[in-house]
Amino acid sequence: MPRQPHKSDPEESPIRGRPRRTEDHFRQLVEAVDDYAILLLDPAGRITSWNAGAARVTGFSADEVLGRSHADFYTPEAVSEGVPSRHLQEAARCGRLADEGWCLRKDGSRFWASFTITAVLGSDGKPRCFLVIARDLTLRRDMEKQLREAMDAARREAELRLRESEERFARFTEHLPGLAWIKDLAGRYVYINRAGAQVFGRSPDEICGATDAELFPPETVAQFRENDAHAIAQGIGVQVVEHLVHPDGSVHHSIVSKFPIQDAQGEVRLIGGIAIDITERVRAEEALLLADRRKDEFLATLSHELRNPLAPLRNSLHLLQSHGADSRTERMYGMMEQQLNRMIRLVDDLLEVSRITGGKIELRKEPVSVATVIESAIETSRPLIESASHRLTVMLPDEPLVIEADPVRITQVLSNLLNNAAKYTQEAGSITLSGLRDGDDVVLAVRDNGLGIPANMLPRVFEMFAQVDRTLKRSQGGLGIGLALARSLVEMHGGSITARSEGLNAGSEFVVRLPLSRHRQANPSRAQNIRSSAPGAGLKILVVDDNQDGADTMAMVLQTLGATASVAYDGPSAIAAVRSERPDLVLLDLGMPAMDGYEVAAQIRADPVHRQVRLIALTGFGSEEERRRCREAGFDDHCTKPCDPQRLREILATNVASRE
Ligand code: ADP
Repeated sequence: MPRQPHKSDPEESPIRGRPRRTEDHFRQLVEAVDDYAILLLDPAGRITSWNAGAARVTGFSADEVLGRSHADFYTPEAVSEGVPSRHLQEAARCGRLADEGWCLRKDGSRFWASFTITAVLGSDGKPRCFLVIARDLTLRRDMEKQLREAMDAARREAELRLRESEERFARFTEHLPGLAWIKDLAGRYVYINRAGAQVFGRSPDEICGATDAELFPPETVAQFRENDAHAIAQGIGVQVVEHLVHPDGSVHHSIVSKFPIQDAQGEVRLIGGIAIDITERVRAEEALLLADRRKDEFLATLSHELRNPLAPLRNSLHLLQSHGADSRTERMYGMMEQQLNRMIRLVDDLLEVSRITGGKIELRKEPVSVATVIESAIETSRPLIESASHRLTVMLPDEPLVIEADPVRITQVLSNLLNNAAKYTQEAGSITLSGLRDGDDVVLAVRDNGLGIPANMLPRVFEMFAQVDRTLKRSQGGLGIGLALARSLVEMHGGSITARSEGLNAGSEFVVRLPLSRHRQANPSRAQNIRSSAPGAGLKILVVDDNQDGADTMAMVLQTLGATASVAYDGPSAIAAVRSERPDLVLLDLGMPAMDGYEVAAQIRADPVHRQVRLIALTGFGSEEERRRCREAGFDDHCTKPCDPQRLREILATNVASRE
């Protein structure tokens, strides 16, 4: 850079006490600096020195500016406000002034300068000159400005996004079909949607900031707190049912999802909740349950009432058949027996429904031979199978299989499956009953080549009252109870039952799986007990029933079984008869007016003279409760009405045995 001529007093160095040669060097050095604009001003502000930096920043060469006023570099506005001379005065007063501001370039453009003005004072304390050092910070300032603007834009964008997100959240929660809220860990509401506020009977503003304790009664608060704590402890939230009394006093049930809300560090800070009112559903369920209970009660009463007239009918028919008749009458007896048995089966099924739904079925388990239950099931179903001319094949393994079961109930299950196979197979069909061991289980399968079951009905046939084709002849169909009953009974034995079919007209297979017993030896089955033709021989029996036909016909049946039977139609005459006749066995109806069977039994038992007499209850429902009461009243056994001949034989056989 060419050395600029120096227009100031050549004799005087502006820096006091510095030798002129050194000063020259210094001046050369300063003039060469081009990062900073360095210039000297005389006391009046005229430029006396101008370095390369100043030339670069402003565009003026030293020749163009030396001798000009420093004020020429200030903007017109600053000049009109007297800023240039104020700067010099300030520097003279304080020694040094630092500031920033707009300055002018040669081409008229402006640059942002950061500058210091240092006053060089003479011995009289007056400025001899001013040293100005300036830097062009336009670029930095522009960058700072751009940065600031970018940051502002980013902040505005973030604020916009946040507002949008909040609006979305608010719209979302306002349109939820329920309540939504957020609480802090002190239980203070920080957000609640309008629906929530309405339910609480306040505005969202009133609720936010309040705690549960300030809004609800103590029981409600305790319920909320417990569930909130549970949700926080779980970490992922919980679903609970909560109850809330609304401002109108009605109790509402809600299914509530409660969940902890974490901050960016994963710390739980808030707890959120969403509640859907399920009061209507709960009420509907309660109404359904009530209706269902009433239906069960109705079925129980109906089947009970239907049983009463069936008992004398069965007894009478049994008596008529035992006397023999011409073939035409025999055929009619046979038909009557068939229809009566069907009726009894339907009523029994009905009664079983009420037992199942009431959980009243009680199993009398014992080690039972699988072969025996199969035999007795076939025995029961044989008439139906034979009447449809089906071929029955039975396949059993050689090894004896023993299950821990109630033989009567498992027989019932198998005979139900056999009856169904017979009912739902065209005449002269083929039915197979097989039993085999599979590990610790026995698998019993009843297969037929009949109507089959469509795939969509397979999972449903075990439901109560489910029937595939309701248009079947009613003489074929039942009530749709048998399989539901079979499944309950099998499951009560710890087993399972499944149905298979390839579809319509492709036959069906029902498979029962039951756990084998630890015992290898079966008890002599109750079903086998009843072989004697006159199991009542030698027994003196009193039949007590307010249904006189029932009592009379039962007495007659007992006589055909070899017993001596008498009757009484009410409690007091029964007690009198026991005293006078000293029977071995009393068949005592429970439901009699004035003095019921329990009381009669209790009075008989109260007299030690009658300790030996065996008391058999004739029950309607055969429920566990009824049996418990029977045991307490001193009964030895019970028989559900109408007492079928097999059961009657069993009772007599047991009592002959107990006398022996
Ligand atoms: P029910 O025989 O009294 O109608 P179940 O509960 O015993 O009642 O059977 C339910 C339904 O399952 C029957 O109505 C019948 O449609 C179907 N089903 C049962 N067993 C068979 C079978 N072996 N073959 C075809 N369909 C059957």
